Amino acid sequence: MDYTAKIARNVASIPRSGIRDFFELVQGREGVISLGVGEPDFVTPWHIREAAIYSLEKGQTTYTSNLGLLSLRKSISKYVNDFFHVDYDPATEVLVTVGVSEAIDIALRALLNPGDEVVFHEPCYVSYSPSIIMAHGKAISVETTKEDGFSLKPKKLAEVITPRTRIIFLNFPTNPTGAVASREDLEGIAKLAIEHDLIVMTDEIYSELRYDDEEHLSIASLPGMKERTILLHGFSKAFAMTGFRLGYACAPQPIIEAMMKIHQYAMLCAPIMSQNAAIEALENGKPAMIEMRNSYHQRRDFLVKRLNEIGLDCHMPGGAFYVFPDIRKSGLSSKEFATRLLEEENVACVPGSAFGPSGEGFLRCCYATAFEDIRTAMDKMERFVGRL
Ligand code: PLP
Repeated sequence: MDYTAKIARNVASIPRSGIRDFFELVQGREGVISLGVGEPDFVTPWHIREAAIYSLEKGQTTYTSNLGLLSLRKSISKYVNDFFHVDYDPATEVLVTVGVSEAIDIALRALLNPGDEVVFHEPCYVSYSPSIIMAHGKAISVETTKEDGFSLKPKKLAEVITPRTRIIFLNFPTNPTGAVASREDLEGIAKLAIEHDLIVMTDEIYSELRYDDEEHLSIASLPGMKERTILLHGFSKAFAMTGFRLGYACAPQPIIEAMMKIHQYAMLCAPIMSQNAAIEALENGKPAMIEMRNSYHQRRDFLVKRLNEIGLDCHMPGGAFYVFPDIRKSGLSSKEFATRLLEEENVACVPGSAFGPSGEGFLRCCYATAFEDIRTAMDKMERFVGRL
């Protein structure tokens, strides 16, 4: 059978994730030091795991409300109010999802009609453009640069807004660059959203991972923005809970209602034991989270210092757990650089081009990896760069 003709055109048009392709090369190699996968190296703190186990012991093995357990939504609402300074009604303005991944997908599907444009800053997380395309939207990227700290400048954003634009999609701190947005930039973006009557989707999954005592600022908390913002957050990164598959969306009731319609038919609900673990994370998880953040902070400082010593110009990222050194001086493409680094030194980093064309010339190194491994990886990288 000719399966090509059987696959939906918009799905067929989407390339596979560049990260996945690269990690197929890593598979099967012995002794690789990986700064590749964007996942905490910590196991979920014990008290959170225990809450999931206890949930099972109590025989809680059922579906929950489509929106998620009300007790969890109440905890989320309180947490979001304390942390992001935005007040959401747990009964109608919070939806518990299967990771931020699902929240991104259903938010886009809930809002887009075919051909509607979504503007996002790039380099960006690998799922954004494909998710927009799968929701029949048009993905419009705005290049961010090292010189601008990889933040989205309102002036550049204004240049790509058209009558077809529906959504501005933000991600600060950013995967893969670790970029954060200044208050001034967020205010400028908010002004444009209001002027053009646009929805802002903001993926703030790394918001707790801010360094140098800087506080996270959410665009949702700026005047006039709650009513037009979908705030996406989850448990994977700050609480080291990737395998629990739990996230949430906070937004005005009509938007949550529309997202819920897709969620209830596609997912029904998020797993109950993960939801119970998430309540524990929100209520008692802060000390462990701060400990993990402090550890990432130390690793970031070490990694940025070493990369600059090696001669790979690297900006100091304000958040997340990625650095994004400039490898253009090597004369290699990001894919060639990453492939040779793997083949010659057994160190895995992700080519910047996996995060969109504007990531070319850079490399993503994730520092959610043991300190000793980071140290060894940098020694190997130094040797590799010295040979070029
Ligand atoms: N958003 C960003 C920016 C990410 O980096 C990731 C995972 O790497 C996700 C969303 C997916 O998160 P989740 O595990 O909650 O689906």
